[in-house]
Amino acid sequence: MKVSLRSLAIKCRVTSTSQDMQTADVVIIGAGIVGSSIAYHLTAEGCSNILLIERESSTGKGSTGKSMGGVRAQFSTPSSIQMSLYSIPFYASFEDSLGFPCDYRPQGYLFCATTEHHMAYLQANYAQQVKIGLKNVSLVAGHEIRSMFPQLRGDDIVGGSFCSTDGFVDPYSAMNGFMTWACDHGASLWKNTVATAIEKDDSGVVSVETTRGAVATRKVVNCAGAWAAGVAALVGIDLPVQPLRRMLVPSEPFDEFPHTAPMIVDMSNGFHFRPEARGFLLAWNDPEETPGFKTDFDPGFIEKILTRAADRVPCFANLPVNPKRAWAGLYEMTPDHHPILGEAPGVPGFFLANGFSGHGVMHAPATGKILSDLILTGKTDLINVSLLGLSRFAEGKLIHETALL
Ligand SMILES: Cc1cc2nc3c(=O)[nH]c(=O)nc-3n(C[C@H](O)[C@H](O)[C@H](O)COP(=O)(O)OP(=O)(O)OC[C@H]3O[C@@H](n4cnc5c(N)ncnc54)[C@H](O)[C@@H]3O)c2cc1C
Repeated sequence: MKVSLRSLAIKCRVTSTSQDMQTADVVIIGAGIVGSSIAYHLTAEGCSNILLIERESSTGKGSTGKSMGGVRAQFSTPSSIQMSLYSIPFYASFEDSLGFPCDYRPQGYLFCATTEHHMAYLQANYAQQVKIGLKNVSLVAGHEIRSMFPQLRGDDIVGGSFCSTDGFVDPYSAMNGFMTWACDHGASLWKNTVATAIEKDDSGVVSVETTRGAVATRKVVNCAGAWAAGVAALVGIDLPVQPLRRMLVPSEPFDEFPHTAPMIVDMSNGFHFRPEARGFLLAWNDPEETPGFKTDFDPGFIEKILTRAADRVPCFANLPVNPKRAWAGLYEMTPDHHPILGEAPGVPGFFLANGFSGHGVMHAPATGKILSDLILTGKTDLINVSLLGLSRFAEGKLIHETALL
């Protein structure tokens, strides 16, 4: 069933401001898809005295509402693959489990290699993915890609890899599904509310100051996306998460390329695209982009991306595009392109769920499970989360994810 939740109101209980200090078992700062998934996973485990704090008037105004919605397990490192192995089946059964749609479309991701070096990279990733338990991934020959998609310029494609359970979700619907379910089961959401300070005592976190008053709590989760470093600074932590602008260009209706296509990735330059509605959604990460809170769309990007689009897909020379429908949002980059998960060293009760480096939608279900496990039991079996702790940067134990888009 394809239903959008955009028009449906979230039925969250909004706790009224009172003279007495509010209390919550867990306060989640930031109500994008990551905060919403953590709220869902906590409530599903019976921890329902949760308060989400969101500074915007509605949820999804951060990176979640700007996302391309791609979900894939074709990564290079065990933790990224394992997080997808939880998250993608979760999205596949989202509507059955939560009662809300997330519009999971398993149309696959097809990586197209144009050099033997890139093909060797895909082969090494494939071996890693299969070893960890990914099914439905396969290596494909250049001639197979050319026959699957004769619309591609395939003269330089030497091969690729394809996973049929990769695909797309509607991030906004998934976020709303998580949030609505959590609020229906006891969680509260304060919108138009900024977290401005976090108080500590010798045992750790004691309260969060907000523009609606203080909330007493022993557990706080930083889910502030690209703004996470600012929230971490409230407890004196230097969080290595930087905002980086990414731009997407949707086309008008276009029928000269199949709408059943997967996300197709041109590894020669990183251009990728997928079907969206009756047209296509185009993406390319400009290597000249510099970090910063830039959320304006640069009109000059249209020509750059259409040049790459028409180079790989000649019929895209005719692709109609309305620049006014294009948009920009922020990736939340870490130095090794892996998230930072877990309790912050030296600040008991302050948890981090940050730095997804452009993979926060596809890894939100796993992040919700991992953080819920850590908050409620102090451990998780889903991944070796100690590898993703904040201390890895000080200790020089970075684990680089190279399968970035
Ligand atoms: C163009 C683009 C394409 C992308 N494509 C994909 C993709 O295909 N697949 C994928 O998995 N990911 C993709 N991403 C990345 C993905 O969107 C993010 O990783 C994900 O949305 C992060 O979710 P979040 O909840 O952590 O952050 P956000 O959605 O940004 O939510 C953080 C929230 O915190 C709030 N906040 C911040 N500070 C405070 C404060 N002090 N007090 C109260 N509230 C605060 C903000 O208002 C915001 O709502 C893409 C991102 C962009 C920009």
